[in-house]
Amino acid sequence: MQILLATGNPHKLDEVRAILTPQGIDILSLESLETIPPEPVENSTTFEGNARLKAVGYARATQRRCLADDSGLAVDVLDGAPGVYSARYAGQGSTRAERDNANNAKLIEALAEVPKDLRHAQFVCCMCVADPDGSIVAESRGTFEGTIATAPKGTNGFGYDPLFELEDGRTSAELDTLEKNRRSHRALATLALADTLRRLSV
Ligand code: IMP
Repeated sequence: MQILLATGNPHKLDEVRAILTPQGIDILSLESLETIPPEPVENSTTFEGNARLKAVGYARATQRRCLADDSGLAVDVLDGAPGVYSARYAGQGSTRAERDNANNAKLIEALAEVPKDLRHAQFVCCMCVADPDGSIVAESRGTFEGTIATAPKGTNGFGYDPLFELEDGRTSAELDTLEKNRRSHRALATLALADTLRRLSV
């Protein structure tokens, strides 16, 4: 089976590909297309809604089976923020690295007065696979639990990884790809999706 992964994020591409390729699902990147369609507007207030918007939009535009994910960080003490706005929490920087740095700085600042035991957060990832006629083939959700550190640590991964601390004190930016792919929200959502696709044999 071949599926187009509707993301411009190379980290997401690597993470999803590492899990689905061994399962016999060949992942095409947007970059491999002759023409990359414009990104659909992500105007849903839920991760599920945005994943659907992206999967259906790209599937219709490319006439290919398409997988999209919408993910983000939900911090308990911030009532689930930055949530669906995780990518643009601190505004629109010009590069991904600049946006990530600004987002992390804003999060450190927002939690400056919050004690360790109230810094619980979870990464959420919702995935959706849609066909060229716009029908939804499969959906899944995965979560990853942690706490928000007071300073960044680690150089792997992307986004909020350097601030996302696990029980053993490491951040998710200190996990290698293999370990992140056993435990992360995206890994769990990807595995659940592969399971559904296999059961449906579609
Ligand atoms: P999306 O591309 O709209 O799904 O935005 C997701 C945003 O949530 C990213 O830009 C990151 O800021 C954050 N995020 C999602 N998954 C991860 C992860 O695995 N590690 C770190 N940050 C993540």
